[in-house]
Amino acid sequence: MAVGVPADITTTCDSQLTTEPWHIDRQQGYGPGASTDDVAPPTTPHQGPIPPEYTQASESELDARITAAKATLGDRLKILGHFYQRDEIVKYADFVGDSFMLAQAAKDHPEAEAFVFCGVHFMAETADILSQNHQSVILPNLAAGCSMADMATIDQVEEAWEQLTTVLGTSDDDQAELIPVTYMNSSAAIKAFCGRNGGIVCTSSNAATVLEWAFERGKRVIFFPDQHLGRNTAKAMGMTEEQMPLWRPYLPLGGNTQQQLIDAKVILWNGFCSVHKRFTVAQINKARADFDNVQVIVHPECPAPVVEAADGVGSTEYIRKAIEAGKPGDVFAVGTEINLVNRLQAQHPEMTIFCLDPVVCPCSTMYRIHPAYLAWVLEALVAGQIPNQISVEPTVAADAEVALERMLAARP
Ligand code: SF4
Repeated sequence: MAVGVPADITTTCDSQLTTEPWHIDRQQGYGPGASTDDVAPPTTPHQGPIPPEYTQASESELDARITAAKATLGDRLKILGHFYQRDEIVKYADFVGDSFMLAQAAKDHPEAEAFVFCGVHFMAETADILSQNHQSVILPNLAAGCSMADMATIDQVEEAWEQLTTVLGTSDDDQAELIPVTYMNSSAAIKAFCGRNGGIVCTSSNAATVLEWAFERGKRVIFFPDQHLGRNTAKAMGMTEEQMPLWRPYLPLGGNTQQQLIDAKVILWNGFCSVHKRFTVAQINKARADFDNVQVIVHPECPAPVVEAADGVGSTEYIRKAIEAGKPGDVFAVGTEINLVNRLQAQHPEMTIFCLDPVVCPCSTMYRIHPAYLAWVLEALVAGQIPNQISVEPTVAADAEVALERMLAARP
């Protein structure tokens, strides 16, 4: 059975979704799913082979081994599962949430010795930053990166900053010329860059609050790495397209004139999520034609025309709560990752809940966490080893924590 693909659906974005991840982990790129056409930087981590006793085990054998190892580890272990993770993994999770909720769960459980983070690399880094030194954070498959986070590397960001500060100069009043803001979906190195340079982190639920925080301190913002979250948030705050030039990291001045950068309010990094980029206004129009009473809710990583055509926009937690507040017979067309949408439909059979995109196309990188990897890391922990530990270098972690703490303090 293909990952995250319901039995009655046969249309998938990639026939390789039926392939187990260890057959593709050492290939270049992100593998099957929404990010399959994105270019992975050469520094993207790869996962080495794991013993055949895991890759050749049946589903029921893996289930028995995971359950036994989890019971042996008891309170020493917490398994964290992202909303977009496949159900075969989520069923073992002690906490299910978005990336920030899960990092907070790590912070709130100092008694745990190990967190197995069933999400992607930047999420495990954030959990490592917020957890304590004696705790370890483990990513079951090192190939589970994030194509959006990889679209802004620290070298590109530092180069952009140098060019921008040359053009914008230094301020002669209390307002900085430029404040760096990064979405949670970025590397620890970029969060640390923001911490060092008077900047801040945001999530998809507090991006407007964070931009207000930034404009109290500076004249402009550079927003990493998701152009859509940045654009949707700035538009909702009244900014115009002309005030939001796009920074393309391979072009001088990001492909802009000096005057465009001087006139900018929010400089948008040219990154995107390939899951959310798939949603279109045509899909929304079709949902409205098919169902009179449909409510369309989408994630702010979707392109601006999609957000503007929807009835509601918000984080995965917003989407989850909007559906929980629904009543029998309600119809929701949802613009976010398929695993979350299918789980919401399974939890609410009294409503009709479907993904706007009729083609099943999960997040390529979440797909990499398979029960075989989970069994492997849990049994290694039982044996006293710490496999696939995600460890952020202390000075980077300290600077990143500054930017994260600013976000927490900026909460309305
Ligand atoms: S859904 Fe998009 S932003 Fe989230 S992990 Fe996958 S590629 Fe990255």
